[in-house]
Amino acid sequence: MIDEIFQRHEEVILFYSGGKDSLALLLLLKPYWNRVNVVWVDTGNQFPEVIEHMGKVMSMVPHFTTLKGNQPEYFQQNGFPVDVVPTRYTRFGQFAFGGKPLTVCSRFGCCNANIWTPMRAYLTAVKPTCVLRADRQTERVKGPENEDGIEFVFPIWEWTDEQVWRYLQGEAGDLLQERHCMKHGTSLDCQTCMAYSEEIPERLTYLKKEHPALYEKTVRFYESYKAVVVNEIKKIEV
Ligand code: SF4
Repeated sequence: MIDEIFQRHEEVILFYSGGKDSLALLLLLKPYWNRVNVVWVDTGNQFPEVIEHMGKVMSMVPHFTTLKGNQPEYFQQNGFPVDVVPTRYTRFGQFAFGGKPLTVCSRFGCCNANIWTPMRAYLTAVKPTCVLRADRQTERVKGPENEDGIEFVFPIWEWTDEQVWRYLQGEAGDLLQERHCMKHGTSLDCQTCMAYSEEIPERLTYLKKEHPALYEKTVRFYESYKAVVVNEIKKIEV
């Protein structure tokens, strides 16, 4: 499949998160690295191990582009991104109904502002004909395969967790880190993200082991946030 992609496209983009799936795809593309632009979005709130990993990848591939989000600024304006949004605790909810001790926002608004919008702006500016994605069918639904003249290709869509892991053990060398052993969410994304708790169930265990101070802060946040959500739901009388 990889050869066939490069027969049809002169150059391709790989959106690279540094998680285990995108690392597997990056290594799979090795014979074509001179025709791949590896693009990473730095949200401004990255874990040090991810920064270290990206430094290695940058020095390894011929074409690497860093896009910028600004999650810390977004956080200042909108609060903590969460999975279930108690709307009276958002910035607008507090404007309408009064201040709260906690400010939260939707995880999709936060990711959109700090990750997806920089990606979209980049695609609009560069107008590539092909974008490679490392999504796999065990993790999510498949996105569109063609949009605005761009072909989106999913070379490892059918790979299992075991296939990815076996491939990385053989090929990744010192690019592999402790976080890559988690089943999900191995890109880690933002340090202070309080969302995606269902999609990344091992995150707290990882934080406890590797970043104990951040783990404590995260647990404290979850305790107060859960109390807020339960309290809001209790107000619904049926
Ligand atoms: S990963 Fe979390 S903190 Fe980072 S941009 Fe997405 S929702 Fe916001």
